Order: sequence, then C-alpha cells, then structure tokens
Amino acid sequence: MKSTIHACPNCHAAWSGDPLGTARCPECDAVLVPLHLDKEAWDRLSVEEKESKKNETFNQVANRPHEVHLMSQEFYLRAISEDIHTIKILLICVVLVLPFLIFLGIIS
Ligand SMILES: [Zn+2]
Repeated sequence: MKSTIHACPNCHAAWSGDPLGTARCPECDAVLVPLHLDKEAWDRLSVEEKESKKNETFNQVANRPHEVHLMSQEFYLRAISEDIHTIKILLICVVLVLPFLIFLGIIS
C-alpha cells in the first residue's frame, strides 16, 4: 500500500504512513489529518507549498469535520468489502466441493 501524508493540527508536523494505520501524532498524540497526498507528491512540494497545503487542510477540517470523518470511513468500508468478497469466494468453493466429497464418501 502506498504511504500517504498526514499532518498534525497541533504541532504542524507531517508524517507519512499507512492510510489505515493509527492516525496519531508520534510527537504529541493529537489525531492526524490526512492530506490526501502520497509521499512522492509531498516530497516534490517546496517548504512554502507544504505549509500552505497543511494550513488549507486544517482549515477544511475546522470548517467541515464531518467530511474528513466520512473520508476515513470510506477507506475502512472499502477494506471490509474486499474482505467480504474473499470470504464469499471461499464459501462458494466449500459449498461446491463439499457435496462432491460426501458423494465420494458414499460410493467408496
Ligand atoms: Zn503533533
């Protein structure tokens, strides 16, 4: 999984990490805000651009906290839906193979 950039609204430090990982600042333990940038894109920005990107995101969060919450929820739901898909395939295999094994057991 690509590492994405999160920023701390408390001490303004930026951290890279797994989008589904713990989103807490290692410095001050505040909840981090996702900047929706991967590490390569972030590294290409100048110091001023990084600052303005952080401030822009902090303002958005202050104005619309609910939307950021929905964004991380969407990540979470997508991961769950992939898991359900895997479980479904496993169940279909079991349902198809089991009667066959029982049939083999009866005729042998
Ligand atoms: Zn912090």
